[in-house]
Amino acid sequence: MTVTTHNRFTATVLGLPRIGPRRELKRAVEGYWAGRIDAAELERVARQLRAQSWSAAQDSGLDAVPVGTFSFYDQMLDTAVMLGALPPRVAGIGDPLERYFAAARGAEGVEPLEMTKWFDTNYHYLVPEIGPDTRFALDPSALLAELREARELGIAARPVVIGPLTFLALSKGVDGVAPMDRLAELIPLYRDLLARLSDAGAAWVQIDEPVLVRDLSEAELGAVRTTYAALSDGDRRPNILVATYFGSPGPALGVLASTPIEGVALDFRSGTTVSEVAAVPALADKLVVAGVVDGRNIWRTDLGAALSELATLLGSVGALAVSTSSSLLHVPYSLDTETGLDPVLRSWLAFGAEKIDEVRVLAHAVGAGTDAVAAELAASRAAIESRRSDPRLHNAAVRARLAGLGEDRARRAPAQRRRELQRAQLRLPLLPTTTIGSYPQTTAIRTARADLRAGTIDDAQYRERMRGEIADVIALQEKLGLDVLVHGEPERNDMVQYFAEQLDGFAATDNGWVQSYGTRCVRPPILYGDVVRTAPMTVEWITYAQSLTGKPVKGMLTGPVTILAWSFVRDDQPLADTARQVALAIRDETVDLEAAGIRIVQVDEPALRELLPLRRADQEQYLDWAVGAFRLATAGVRDDTQIHTHLCYSEFGEIIGAIAALDADVTSVEAARSHMEILDDLTTAGYALGIGPGVYDIHSPRVPSVSEIENSLREAMKAVPAERLWVNPDCGLKTRGRAEVEASLRNMVEAAARVR
Ligand code: GLN
Ligand code: ZN
Repeated sequence: MTVTTHNRFTATVLGLPRIGPRRELKRAVEGYWAGRIDAAELERVARQLRAQSWSAAQDSGLDAVPVGTFSFYDQMLDTAVMLGALPPRVAGIGDPLERYFAAARGAEGVEPLEMTKWFDTNYHYLVPEIGPDTRFALDPSALLAELREARELGIAARPVVIGPLTFLALSKGVDGVAPMDRLAELIPLYRDLLARLSDAGAAWVQIDEPVLVRDLSEAELGAVRTTYAALSDGDRRPNILVATYFGSPGPALGVLASTPIEGVALDFRSGTTVSEVAAVPALADKLVVAGVVDGRNIWRTDLGAALSELATLLGSVGALAVSTSSSLLHVPYSLDTETGLDPVLRSWLAFGAEKIDEVRVLAHAVGAGTDAVAAELAASRAAIESRRSDPRLHNAAVRARLAGLGEDRARRAPAQRRRELQRAQLRLPLLPTTTIGSYPQTTAIRTARADLRAGTIDDAQYRERMRGEIADVIALQEKLGLDVLVHGEPERNDMVQYFAEQLDGFAATDNGWVQSYGTRCVRPPILYGDVVRTAPMTVEWITYAQSLTGKPVKGMLTGPVTILAWSFVRDDQPLADTARQVALAIRDETVDLEAAGIRIVQVDEPALRELLPLRRADQEQYLDWAVGAFRLATAGVRDDTQIHTHLCYSEFGEIIGAIAALDADVTSVEAARSHMEILDDLTTAGYALGIGPGVYDIHSPRVPSVSEIENSLREAMKAVPAERLWVNPDCGLKTRGRAEVEASLRNMVEAAARVR
């Protein structure tokens, strides 16, 4: 089928944010959980938010609006519901909404689905489970209801679903099931779904298949072909747009184009090039939805450059529509509320609403010529020029310092030598006990921060309260008998934001919230310029803590890769260069901590795995600069100063070599749930340094027993000699309650004593 004028569209986005411009959905969902509002009220808020965002998108000039990207929690979970793939353990819950939230976050006696990162973003999806008992069955009622709702409002609605390949590839097989083996069962369900959407009046459907930007085997490419040949066979269906994003579909593009689908959406901001499109002749009679406006970052688009890409594309496609490169889920709603931002910096930015406007302008130019948008083009050029020439983007001093650091900047003495020096200096017992950094963020701490913001207490009073918290945490650790203490991180709202607020080159937003998972939203800082540390950031707190105890207190810093991963980062230079600047700032902090008498410094890199490129060919280069940045950050201290790092939230399998290459004296990792497999992997990779596999899971309020922890420890000792083993929980304690923390740590210390 060829794309004809009556069914084409020209301006769209791949998805809309859903939390609400003022996080209304978060409040409503949490209100429902707490019993403050009922299901009807929750639905009313949701309906209103959907109506607002669809209308805003259409009024801003989109002629196709994605519908179905709204969710009470997560779109993968919604897809599992639609396909009848919820795990059997929630099947007994009669109320559909209760069942949904039980799958998302657990309920009395019901474990929730696992959660993991959505590709290389900081959004977390729920991992569907496919087991022998999974009986797929289509229930499209939620999507059909939304579609009806949108059409009643006069919205040019394009329903969006997650495709069968992505759904299965991201699911977890249980009891020996390989989810991809069940593909053939899903095809008829999707065909049925397409028929239902067509009956409901949908002219197009968007089927999201981001999994196509990963490396695919020949067999997987074959599955792409058979799936989309089967879905596009038959005419009781809407036109099919297959959306790929977060990278180039590479060989999958030709495969998709060889099937009768009507369109593909491509991400031109992270990998896809216009020449890849030209190389696929079959695209000459398809709609290409060109993602030229970055859906993941917050920089204003260079409209001139985007227009030349679009002009080139016009020559090789059947029809062209302009879009964002991905869903707008990953950026804040609008700049409107950002009145506190420096106006010059603000002029360089585009959040969700502004990106929709950029799409409109570009689509208008494609249709009516560049003269029609001369004013917008000039404004874009001016913003780009203002940004390029801003002195804050090029700090000569920091650049000269980085250039002048010799080859040995990232090198310390051999690990064995360091170990001897540190042993003599620290005199720790066998199996030293410690924690990962944070202690419970109590109401008192949050109140103090709110009071400071509201101006009811001044800076000195705030500091006094934080000192009180630190003193409590030190006293607790002394009482429990831990060996290496921490100050508890009470002064940190967030482990990245805390540093961003103190470094030049970063800006904070007032309302730039994005969904991280469920009702959890984050406000990533904006890293816009050269990064410079103008003063110590943590020394005051750590030295205060150290002054209260004779035991060593670990300094706590966030590593350069994690700071980048959880910020919106400048796109005018390679990430590697930005990472080195952040690393230098952290390095200065480690040196200052050391000079102030701190003998152990931990540099956390929980996001090391998150930024790993999706394609294997790009991974080595990333790991190279990521490891280099960590080493630059940590190699400025003496050999008798002990460097720790902490990693979590991921399967480390693919990056074991890099973990060893970090060359930290001690690495603590999340291992309680992965059963210590990581220890064997690390040993195989030649890792011979200190290791603290988490001996209990902090993600649950349950207090582990002494014997349970003892067993974990004994298991760990099978893989790692006791001389290199540390004893710690698997992550920070900030989300836990005071009483559980005390009980759990008491058992941990006792278990270590028994094993010793
Ligand atoms: N030091 C941090 C804490 O304990 C580490 C957090 C993390 O791993 N994400 O909170
Ligand atoms: Zn952690």
